[in-house]
Amino acid sequence: METEFAVCTQEQIDAMLQRLQTIRRNIAEACNEAGRSADEVTLMAVTKTVAPDLINAAVDAGVNVLGENRVQEFLSKKDFYRPGAEVQFIGHLQTNKVKQIIDKVTLIHSVDSVHLAEAVSKAAQQQGITMPVLLEVNIGGEISKSGTAPEAVRTLLEHVLTLPNIRVDGLMTIPPPTTDAAEQDAVFARMQEIYQEMQKITPMHVLSMGMSGDYAAAVRRGATLVRIGSGLFGARLYPPQNSVV
Ligand SMILES: *Cc1c(COP(=O)(O)O)cnc(C)c1O
Repeated sequence: METEFAVCTQEQIDAMLQRLQTIRRNIAEACNEAGRSADEVTLMAVTKTVAPDLINAAVDAGVNVLGENRVQEFLSKKDFYRPGAEVQFIGHLQTNKVKQIIDKVTLIHSVDSVHLAEAVSKAAQQQGITMPVLLEVNIGGEISKSGTAPEAVRTLLEHVLTLPNIRVDGLMTIPPPTTDAAEQDAVFARMQEIYQEMQKITPMHVLSMGMSGDYAAAVRRGATLVRIGSGLFGARLYPPQNSVV
């Protein structure tokens, strides 16, 4: 199949495989420090702007979860993905786009309102499936970020639990960017606390937190899934003329 996407070079693949090895080693080390087993943590490869060839090379190397955060980009790339990895949706999701992805992803990380949960519930009903989701928490309280306020997670969870055909498997967060280790740790500790509180309400098994710059800190605070883009595939290029893909 011909693709409109850039072909990646063997050098790019080799560099990616090198980074993958380092990431796996760092995750294992962080697990070890926290007294956890390394197989408790799933490494998700975040694919935005990345050529399908390079994504496929990661899948060949054993990465079995891909994270998509733009509906249009995902739909244009998905047919070029080799089977072997499940796809999860991690981006901000508009209610009118839910139908386009509901039957193509295994988990939606970004449910942050009753309105969106209702749209997922309805679309899942039409498909005759139950859709697993995570509730996105705006842990830093940033106005620019999506996610529900930490104080509002319980109310949102209790409401979503009343909806048919949708199941809450856990929580997700994108913390404010910082390289300060103490700040990273404080935020992830707070998330872990909220996660443990919510586990008293319903069984949950996914705590999605940690990205390229802070995944080790997240793993030390109980992350079960880390979402890694640039740290695996290299710096993202956003050519303005090509901003959809
Ligand atoms: C892009 C993205 C990531 C990965 O970010 P990196 O810093 O490149 O690892 C993780 N989560 C979400 C929701 C993203 O949009």
